[in-house]
Parts: sequence; C-alpha cells; structure tokens
Amino acid sequence: MRVRMAPSPTGPLHIGTARTSLYNYLAARHAGGTYVLRIEDTDPARSTDDFERDIIDNLHWLGISWDEGPQVAGGDDIGPHAPYRQSGRMELYGREADRLLETGSAYRCWCTTEELDAVRRDQETKREPPRYNGRCRHLAEAERAAHEAEGRPSVIRFKVEPESVRFDDLVRGEIEFDNALLGDFVIVRNDGMPLYHFVVVIDDEAMGITDVIRGEDHLSNTPKHIALIRALGYREPRFGHIPLILNADRSKMSKRKSQTAITAYREEGYLPEAFVNFMAFLGWSPGTEEEIFSLSELASRFDIAKVHHGGAVFDRDRLDHLNGVYIRAMTDEQLALRVRPWVPEAIRDDDLLRLVPLIKERLVKLGDVPDLIGFVWEPDEVVAGWYGPELLYPKKGGPNEARAALEGAREVLAELDDADFSADVLEQRFREAAEVAGMKAGDFFSPIRVAVTGRTISPPLFASLEMLGRDRSLARVDDARGKLTQVPA
Ligand code: GLU
Repeated sequence: MRVRMAPSPTGPLHIGTARTSLYNYLAARHAGGTYVLRIEDTDPARSTDDFERDIIDNLHWLGISWDEGPQVAGGDDIGPHAPYRQSGRMELYGREADRLLETGSAYRCWCTTEELDAVRRDQETKREPPRYNGRCRHLAEAERAAHEAEGRPSVIRFKVEPESVRFDDLVRGEIEFDNALLGDFVIVRNDGMPLYHFVVVIDDEAMGITDVIRGEDHLSNTPKHIALIRALGYREPRFGHIPLILNADRSKMSKRKSQTAITAYREEGYLPEAFVNFMAFLGWSPGTEEEIFSLSELASRFDIAKVHHGGAVFDRDRLDHLNGVYIRAMTDEQLALRVRPWVPEAIRDDDLLRLVPLIKERLVKLGDVPDLIGFVWEPDEVVAGWYGPELLYPKKGGPNEARAALEGAREVLAELDDADFSADVLEQRFREAAEVAGMKAGDFFSPIRVAVTGRTISPPLFASLEMLGRDRSLARVDDARGKLTQVPA
C-alpha cells in the first residue's frame, strides 16, 4: 500500500487536511505501507513558503510522520519519486498533455471568456447543467490551423466521453457517475499552467499511489480523475472519501465560520496526543466504548472500511474532555514541562512544580494556566484590578457578610506564624473563624477566595494561600477590605 497526503500550501494546516492526513497515516501504518507527502504548489499566486512551513510543522507536532517527501519546510525531497513538489514536475505534466493531444484525448480550445459566459447564460435559461458546449472539439482542421497560425493563447481541454463511471469507494461502497454531465474540462490553462485534476492523476501514477484517501469534497472530482487515468493508460488506484467535518449546527466547517487552523488549537494549549485522538474519532470509531488511544494503538485498530458515511460533527466539549483526561494522566513533572511555555520565565522550575498540583484537576487546556494560577505571580495590585467589590459578596449575602469574612480572615492570617502557614492549619482555622462569625463555610470562604485569587473559581483555597504566603495573602485581604470601605452597608 502506498498512500499520500497532498496539501496545497495556500493556507495554514486546516483541520480537514490534518484529519485526512491522519487517516492516511493510520491506513499506511496499519497495513505496513508507505506514506508520501506531496506538496501541491501549482497555484504560485497563492502558495507560500510560510504556509508550507505551517503545514509541515503542525503535522510533525501532531506526531504524524511520513516516509517520502520533504521532511522539513523547504528541505530536500527524500525518496525515490522526487520531486515531491508539483512545481518541480512541470516537464512531466507538459509531456503528458502532449500525449493526450496526440492521441486525440485532448484538444486545444480558443473560446474566449465572453463566449464561455454566453454559453453558461444560455444553459442557465434552459435549466441545463453548466458545462462546456464542445465548440472547439468540433473545429474543422482548417479553423484549427487558422487559430494556431494566429498564435492566440489556448487552453487544453480533456475529451470526456459520455459514459457512466463506476468505482468501489473504500468508505462508501459502489459509486456510479454519469460523465455525460461533466463536459470537456480544462487541464492546462492558456498560460501553460496545468490544473489540479490533471496533475493529481499524473503524480499519483508517478508516485505509485495505490490508495487515494481524501475528503468527500473530492468525491465529485473522482469521475474526472478516473476518465483521465484511463485515457493516459494508468493503473487505477482505489479511492476512499472520508466524511466532511461539520460545525455543531451541521454546517460545513469553513475558514470563515469556524476555527479551522491547527495552529490555533495548538496555541490554545491542546495537547497533540489528545488532538489526534480526537481527530481519529471525527468519522471513525473502533466500535468499543474505549476513548483513549495513542497513535500506534489507533493505527493497529484503524479500518478505512469502518469510516462513517455521514458528516462528522466537531464537538469542542469532547475535545476539552479528552485534553483533560490526558492532562490528568500525566505526572506533575510531565505537566510542569508542558505548561512551561505559558508560565513566566521568572517562575523557577521548582516553584512551578509546586503549582502544578493546584491546577491539575481543573485544567482544560495548557493555555488556561495564566488564568487559573496567574494570581500567584501577578503583583497584588494587578490581582486587585481583576474584580470589583460586588464579586466579594458571598452567594447568600452582601457587603456586610463580605466584610465579616475578610475581618475574620485577617485575624487568622495575622495570628499564624510562618511555621504554621500550611493548607491544613489554614483550613482548620478558617472553619473555626466561620463558626465564630456565624457564617456557612462556603459563604465565608468565597470573599477570601476572590480577594486572594481575583476570581470566583480558583484552585483549592488553602493551598493557594499557602503558596502565596502570609504577607501577600494579608496584603490581598486588605486590598479587598479597602474596596468595601466605599460600599455602604
Ligand atoms: N491538494 C488537494 C487539496 O488540498 C489534494 C486533493 C487530493 O487529495 O487529491 O485538497
């Protein structure tokens, strides 16, 4: 088995391309086959080196590896079928176009844009499917010669025979198309640039691709490809079309409406191992209740024939859930290493390691770290700026209850010396103080939590106080008391 992924470097790595790449990877690894990366850069106006880098870097980040093709952006092509960039294969495309012209499977077309528009409008009025009307296919030899002599630029069109094309889709089973609806399509532009349908078929043959696994948006292209393959005398690969990824409202996940760039998920702090686990389930499942799979476990279970036909809904909650499962499966040391990029450099590694247990239970994405625990390293006045006096009021209470709790907290904190400043002691003292104040523990703790962390939801309160230490805790309680002095009872 030889499979390929064929991204166009005209945008950052898209979730759809990443999932297609993953399925190809899993299919190849499952079968012990070969995985090829081909860069489809035949659109020079839109292809950039930066996008190529984004695609390759993010595939590596996901843990997807390949056997042939460039391993780093702009790097050497590796493998026996180089070049793996379409821009390096123009000569071959030119030769194959000539061959189709010679055998009469393709012809030059001089129709102008205006003429083509007129045909389209006419078809629209007649409610016919839009397709080329075949004018240049039927040019008399003399007319053709005259056009050639004139030297006007021409496109090359492929002659589509009106026949039905059938193939056995790896995912969807038998598919049949009526090619009569296609019309003769352009394979080389009038500036000599060969187009997607044409080059993809040539490359797949040249690279010995046995299985073309790609998104369902390409399903309607496949009859064109099969017709070209037959005209060129190539071997027909198997085709498999995997379902589209949909938004929660079942609309297509598009760049404009949804977060589609893998980089954006990476920057939010999703773990690559959770993300590939999540993507694998966008259109496939192993048929068991299990949900946690490493890449190699996925590869051993994956079966392209079990990929679903219907669209796959992108469920953010499920992604968050999986990310959390992976986070909680880590040791504190592992997690400290992973959150390091989100933590200021001034925080020493051993301090970071002490913070990790405070956040591990609640953390959804690594990028949430500053929000969850930033109160530890942010200066007191910054934390005080995160909340207004109302946030200090307990659920059942107002400024008076908040004042009572903060007074109580102040006394406890002031009394404790450094040796006693531990979460256990703090908890015991605060519970006693709540009783003295005649308040429920929850109502008593809530203003203190906001004073100390700036938030209503935080890591465990007493461990947070211990981490901050007595003086900073006291200063924050005093800041909060200060905010309440302006509020009438
Ligand atoms: N370059 C095409 C794309 O990005 C690849 C299509 C294919 O796999 O044939 O969609």
